[in-house]
Amino acid sequence: MSSDFFRAFFMIYIHIPFCKQKCSYCNFHFSTSLNFKDEMLAAMKKEIFLRKDELQNKNLQSLYFGGGTPSILSVDEINSLIDETLKHFSFDKDIEITLEANPDDLDKSFLKGLSSSYINRLSIGTQSFFEEDLKLMNRAHNASEAEGSIKRAQDFGFENLSIDLIYGSPTSNLEIWKQNLKKTIALEVPHISSYALTVEPKTALENWISKGKVANPKEEEQNEEFYYLSDFLKDHGFDHYEVSNFAKPGFYSRHNSSYWKYKEYLGIGPSAHSYNGHDTRSWNVANNQQYIKKLNSNIVAKETEILSLEDQFNEMIMIGLRTIWGVDLESLNHKFSDKILDTFQNDIKSKVSNDILVVENNHLKIPEKHWFMADGIASDLFIV
Ligand code: SF4
Repeated sequence: MSSDFFRAFFMIYIHIPFCKQKCSYCNFHFSTSLNFKDEMLAAMKKEIFLRKDELQNKNLQSLYFGGGTPSILSVDEINSLIDETLKHFSFDKDIEITLEANPDDLDKSFLKGLSSSYINRLSIGTQSFFEEDLKLMNRAHNASEAEGSIKRAQDFGFENLSIDLIYGSPTSNLEIWKQNLKKTIALEVPHISSYALTVEPKTALENWISKGKVANPKEEEQNEEFYYLSDFLKDHGFDHYEVSNFAKPGFYSRHNSSYWKYKEYLGIGPSAHSYNGHDTRSWNVANNQQYIKKLNSNIVAKETEILSLEDQFNEMIMIGLRTIWGVDLESLNHKFSDKILDTFQNDIKSKVSNDILVVENNHLKIPEKHWFMADGIASDLFIV
């Protein structure tokens, strides 16, 4: 890692807390009622204004609309949030501006509007090209919209496209997964984020599984599908640059890469998190009404946590070991005391000798063949 490794600044994340319907596996923060959408957008603009001095003298390199479902907004509403942001923050000429979009929202008129906006990257919530998977997930789109949305986006000039794909669904198997990936390659998508279906608490999926209506996803199958995914995409020219992310050269997500290099970010909107690139993290209240009410009084309702050295160390390990860049051992030596590092050195010795970890150019990495278990390997190294 270079000398700018800990240099503070530069991304903004805007959380749009609305969705059309609740996907069966999702536990993110959102509301399916749009009743207070205008008030919410006004509150977000207020938050952008109130926090405009937090990134002074720094250039914004990426702006990311996530959610929730940002594509539930109109193009004018999206543009008004971009305008408000770019009005108050200085930004790079080639700033990356990503919109997460659901396939059912990407019709011709919406895409036409987006193509003349500042949005220059789309992250499409495809998840699968198969009807059975989409039904189980309770997605708002069907298989034909999954494919059609990508083609339409390309027709309107969006080359910097990412799609999300979920593997390991009980409605899928290795053969179906292979077909999903073949379709993805045929569509010439240059970036893919792919996650195992996980059963989160208090979701419809958890409820169905507990009642025996749906089978529990099988870890062995997810493991097999993960390594098939990795080999297949590498054979087709993708870099596997983070456990869940694949990109053709030149199409790495600038926004996410910055998270993984511990850069500073500002999170706007209910439940959004912020980080000062060093030792302070904060998170906005995860309640739409409270968020709006506080901002009506010019207050950003957030909690702040000062990270202990142990927390900072654990985060660097967890985030870095999930990437091809690994963890820079020189930066660790610089930042942390001998007491922390002595324990760590002892912990990594046996893992290195068992080939579970490797050291390359003074960077600690997990060999890709163990990436399915990356979180477990990283947490074994945590300082408690
Ligand atoms: S669209 Fe995304 S945020 Fe909304 S319910 Fe589905 S998975 Fe969750």
